Amino acid sequence: MSIKVRFAPSPTGYLHVGGLRTALYNYLYAKKNDGKIILRIEDTDQSRKVEGAVENLISTFKNIGIEFDEGPSQGGDFGPYFQSQRLDIYKDYIQKLILNKSAYPCFCSSDRLTKIREKQSENKEPIKYDRHCLSLADSEINSRMNNEKYVIRLKIPNEGEVIFYDQVRGKVSIECKEIDDQVLIKTDGFPTYHFANVVDDYLMGITHVMRGEEWLPSTPKHVLLYQAFDWKLPKFIHLPLLLNPDKSKLSKRQGDVAVEDYLSKGYLSETLINFVGLLGWHPKDDREIFNLDELINEFSIKRVQKSGAVFDKEKLNWMNGQYLKEMKISTILNRVVPIFEDAGIDISDTRKFSAVVENARQRVSTLPEMIEHSIPFYSEINFIEEDKLILTSESSQKVFKVLSDKLLNSNDLQEINIKQYIKEAGIETNVKGKDLFLPIRLVLFGEKHGPDIALIISILGKKESIKRLTNFH
Ligand code: GLU
Repeated sequence: MSIKVRFAPSPTGYLHVGGLRTALYNYLYAKKNDGKIILRIEDTDQSRKVEGAVENLISTFKNIGIEFDEGPSQGGDFGPYFQSQRLDIYKDYIQKLILNKSAYPCFCSSDRLTKIREKQSENKEPIKYDRHCLSLADSEINSRMNNEKYVIRLKIPNEGEVIFYDQVRGKVSIECKEIDDQVLIKTDGFPTYHFANVVDDYLMGITHVMRGEEWLPSTPKHVLLYQAFDWKLPKFIHLPLLLNPDKSKLSKRQGDVAVEDYLSKGYLSETLINFVGLLGWHPKDDREIFNLDELINEFSIKRVQKSGAVFDKEKLNWMNGQYLKEMKISTILNRVVPIFEDAGIDISDTRKFSAVVENARQRVSTLPEMIEHSIPFYSEINFIEEDKLILTSESSQKVFKVLSDKLLNSNDLQEINIKQYIKEAGIETNVKGKDLFLPIRLVLFGEKHGPDIALIISILGKKESIKRLTNFH
């Protein structure tokens, strides 16, 4: 059986990290099994439409590196399917259900429905439609359909259970009497999520429906729809909820949930893939760093967990730092150029820029943080009075003079040589330990603690190092 999966977001304006997780797991599963993944925009709720949402979604997937395998062509890529362009299809399919008595029109006003609900909640009964319109005569239905607004509802069987198997949760069953006669077509003629989703999954040949756990309660209705059409069920896989560290549901209120926000804050797409890839699924061993190809190789639905997955930002920071340390320096340089330029740093000396970035990437968890570690290499330092006292002391002055002479006479400013010069300057001036190192670092870097002095000198280069040692303000 060839596998086909889908990512089917409603366009709410941005890609939620939970959406990325769903898309990614579908993608991993498809790629691992020589299958296909499609993107389907579930945009039948006219009231929730957001301008630019789809473009945004597509460009985020592009940045992240997830590609889809099928769909209407769009600028050389496969574009998404849009449910709003498939309304005629849903109209055809609802007729089939009306004909076989699995669905029926309902003319009840919203006032009436509100009243029923109020009464049910007063009596502590389940909130359900009371099937008032189910018993209307065909002749009445036909004439009212021409003159009144109506919805089409799914007729849930009066008794029995809906049973299905979820590949993460196992057997799931629910009594039919607990399920409401779900609206399938709204008064505006648009299908609801449930109806369009099932019709499309069937017509598009989806073999595995993999989505967030929040859709598990909808699945019995979907199963009933498949049964009403006499269609074969796809496999269902419901992925665990994403949680905040306090175990509440991950939501916008508690911080960033939009993938694009993470990207714009300087998290690498490689990190996001890796991090989100481990939210709800465990590899065979304790390994944590995986690129996309490795995730494809390792991924298995069998190791998707049932319990919620905590979105731990500290781990994300750690992981991004790991990526920054390991990544090819040329790749990082390309990505940080705009960040340095925006900060007004002159990066025309490419040797220096590369050395500065090499130093900074060892110390940060995101790209923009590199700026604060790099500024001391570029800007003139203005010392406070307290520091000036240290720098103008007799011993500091002696050390600076000897060291700058050594640098001036050196033909090879490798770190190992610089270390030797510092050592010799200490011996020749008889200044040791803190009294030797602290003033040198301070005069060169403006801080008492920081990178290794030999590294600072090698990054600054001979001219700038001598200038800083001999001429400070
Ligand atoms: N449109 C639903 C969403 O916004 C899709 C759920 C599903 O995958 O069936 O997530």
